[in-house]
Amino acid sequence: MSRVLVIGAGGVSSVAVHKMAQLSDVFTDIHLASRTKRKCEAIAASVKQRTGVDIATYEIDAEEVPALVGLIRKIEPKLVVNLALPYQDLPIMDACLETGVDYLDTANYEPKDEAKFEYHWQWAYHDRFKDAGIMALLGSGFDPGVTSVFTMWLKKHKLKTIRQLDILDCNGGDHGQAFATNFNPEINIREVTAPARHWENGEFVETPAMAKRIEFDFEGVGKRSAYMMYHEELESLSKFIPELERARFWMTFGDEYIKHLTVLQNVGMTSIEPVRYQGQDIIPLQFLAAVLPKPETLGETTKGKTNIGVIATGEALDPGSGSGTGVEKTFYINNICSHEAAFEETGNQAVSYTTGVPAMIGSAMMLTGKWSGDGVFNMEQMDPDPFMEMLNQHGLPWQVKELDGPVGF
Ligand code: NDP
Repeated sequence: MSRVLVIGAGGVSSVAVHKMAQLSDVFTDIHLASRTKRKCEAIAASVKQRTGVDIATYEIDAEEVPALVGLIRKIEPKLVVNLALPYQDLPIMDACLETGVDYLDTANYEPKDEAKFEYHWQWAYHDRFKDAGIMALLGSGFDPGVTSVFTMWLKKHKLKTIRQLDILDCNGGDHGQAFATNFNPEINIREVTAPARHWENGEFVETPAMAKRIEFDFEGVGKRSAYMMYHEELESLSKFIPELERARFWMTFGDEYIKHLTVLQNVGMTSIEPVRYQGQDIIPLQFLAAVLPKPETLGETTKGKTNIGVIATGEALDPGSGSGTGVEKTFYINNICSHEAAFEETGNQAVSYTTGVPAMIGSAMMLTGKWSGDGVFNMEQMDPDPFMEMLNQHGLPWQVKELDGPVGF
């Protein structure tokens, strides 16, 4: 009997809950709570219609720790799956500690008043989780999440060491809107307007946002411009792969997206500093998020594919002896996901799908005991094999190929 409590009712949660319902031998009892109960009910109705499974729904403000503790005590889940926003990570972890329940999320904590996402706030919970005999698994989405698992799979099966790593995230989908973000607009815009940071020779090097661009030919999508930016798995990858000389993250953006974002930034609409307007403090970015299309409404019109993967170069592994061969090799491992197929299956587009499926798989790893431990863990610390197997079985098949040599950019 594995009862889960999922918190948050956006696109990612919708996909994860649909996928959990498809795997009823692991997820025997699914409970869904969020700030707006109506959204939980809409997900529950879709799941019932598609799979016949009943989902119990609740209203909760996850930042109200005593109320959340009360809900967890009432439901008694084995695992709390946090698919709300990064701002809620710490209160939900606090509630898990108080109730002695395992925790999983897909994005690291970010304070509301500072556009800064780092693991140290959550890593600081390690000893308390360990002492309580419970587990927290951080970042079980696609990036972070699958990108870390891809890298560790290469390190287990193909490369003895990883010298250079590039993560390439391409959303080749077209939603037909002039400007919209494909996951929570506030979180998305905070991420892309932050300065770029990459790992080089033992430290993070900071460069202005969107200043470095490459052209890359993505299978299933075509040639796209990708921009170097900071992404949270660079922090955990550089910690758990100490030999890494360089690690970078690239994300594709179309010219229209860049044009709109530049204007919005220039006029101050992406600021998180409050502005006094008609007697009220308004945060421009939150107002902008309120007027932009809701990501969960884009599914129906989005066509095309996502292609996300990692390219790693290092000393090739001799699988027989487990030692290095002295020969350098480069491997590219990726997944291609169709927006239309994701929508057909779950009613959500591929960005939510590629995050919600790994959230379900990470949860399954914990509930079946394939991944276990006391304390706070990143994906890199776990055996990649059972997770990789489930990606193939549950809608995110991957492929790996050897490239001629290291990337030329
Ligand atoms: P949405 O904005 O669509 O959904 C967020 C949900 O959280 C909404 O239902 C919202 O409620 C709810 N929520 C917000 N605040 C609270 C609160 N205080 N208490 C309870 N519920 C709350 O986001 P997405 O589904 O797109 O993203 C979900 C998470 O996934 C985010 O943390 C995002 O950063 C992460 N993500 C991770 C990726 C990865 O690859 N690792 C990729 C994409 C996203 P309401 O409906 O009332 O607003």
